[in-house]
Amino acid sequence: MNTLVMKFGGASVGTTTALAQVLGIVLQEVARWERVVVVVSALDGVTDALIDAAHLAQFGNERGYRRIAATLRQRHLALAEGLALGKPELAALQADLDKLLFELLNAFQRISERNREAFSAENLDEILVIGEKLAARIVAMLLRQHSLRAVAIDSTDLMMTDDVFGSATPDLKATQARINQHLIPMLDRGILPVVTGFIGATSSGKPTTLGRGGSDYSASVFAVCIQAREVWVWSDVDGIMSADPHEVPGAQVVPELSYAEMAELAYFGARILHSRMVAPLQTHAIPLRVKNVYKPQLAGTLIHAGAHTSGVVKSVTHIHGLSLSAQHGGPLTDIVTLVNTHLQKQIGSPSDVMVSAQSASRSFLCVVVPTSAGPDAVNHLTDSLTRELQAGDKFRDWGVEPVILVTAIGDSINTSPTLIARVIGALGDLTILGASFGPGGCSLSLVVRASDGEYALSRLHERIIEK
Ligand code: ASP
Ligand code: MG
Repeated sequence: MNTLVMKFGGASVGTTTALAQVLGIVLQEVARWERVVVVVSALDGVTDALIDAAHLAQFGNERGYRRIAATLRQRHLALAEGLALGKPELAALQADLDKLLFELLNAFQRISERNREAFSAENLDEILVIGEKLAARIVAMLLRQHSLRAVAIDSTDLMMTDDVFGSATPDLKATQARINQHLIPMLDRGILPVVTGFIGATSSGKPTTLGRGGSDYSASVFAVCIQAREVWVWSDVDGIMSADPHEVPGAQVVPELSYAEMAELAYFGARILHSRMVAPLQTHAIPLRVKNVYKPQLAGTLIHAGAHTSGVVKSVTHIHGLSLSAQHGGPLTDIVTLVNTHLQKQIGSPSDVMVSAQSASRSFLCVVVPTSAGPDAVNHLTDSLTRELQAGDKFRDWGVEPVILVTAIGDSINTSPTLIARVIGALGDLTILGASFGPGGCSLSLVVRASDGEYALSRLHERIIEK
């Protein structure tokens, strides 16, 4: 069966203009494919607003969370009004949205009545699922208004996960069973499901989320379960880029990538796709396209098994991090534990060690600071970590410094000395503090001082991609 899964991200469902594009795209693809499944995420900014409101509720700030809930209500209702629906349809949609918003207020109230220490990722997930459900209702109604038999489906009934709230992992077997039971019969009846991304539920029915940006991951799991022919992820950029266009003006769209290249690209900082979405598609050889909702005529990027890969670097990424180094050898376990605990305390998430290296006379490690930690986090953490290291005797000889991890992505780069030489050569005489290959052999990461980051990125792009 010819099935297409299309995922529309927050930016493509957030405004009436974007929704008009979504409508045009769905109408066109429904005519071309036997079956279409639409996956949507919350309107852009909604998940962030819900997180803020949940924390206000945690601290008993009723005015604060009510203000955010009111703004969210206004935004969703205004979007619904902008759809030019018939009167009864608009009234039905408003009632649906209000029911969810009422649930939201109740959930905030429950949080605010409890001890603030009791607030957990489980409580937050109960809140976050509502943002996704609101968006699915709006998109489904829009499609119904244009003669499509669209139905909004809450994936809390389909996506079965473990109970790691905030970053749950789908249980493929259980999800498959739910999909066979609920989704396939709908598709058989010619219904167009508009499914919420990002969210799921444990086997006991508690709502979960798959980690930020997780609606991509949902699309990929659903595609596997319904044996889709392709997955298309729609956003507001032209495709996967050869570098972040905000940093490198010459950045271009990469026409195709292998799954392994895409996975490492996502892992090493390209924020356009959820890194965990690639593996299921790779296992089942389902092609993935990344396209711009405002320019559907462009091909975008195609990620598939037959991608042309040999001997080229396709993209360079950069991420902010901290390096820790000392002039001696010895085990790294204790310092890694210290850094992890420190980051957990300061920014609420542990670090990812990206590069570690040791010789008899030097130890080095580079950890990533998640962008969610905010723009000043790197400097702030450098200071606080330095203070902590200096406070005791054990780690006094360790130094901390802000760094940038620039990564060149190209299939089999780890077995291509010529390519490695070109990447390193492109940096001229910049100091390289550390280096390592990525897990899939598709990337070479170089650690440079934060002040050298911009230069390193543009040199790499200019010399090995623009040529
Ligand atoms: N709405 C969720 C988020 O903001 C999921 C997604 O956008 O993919 O992370
Ligand atoms: Mg996303």
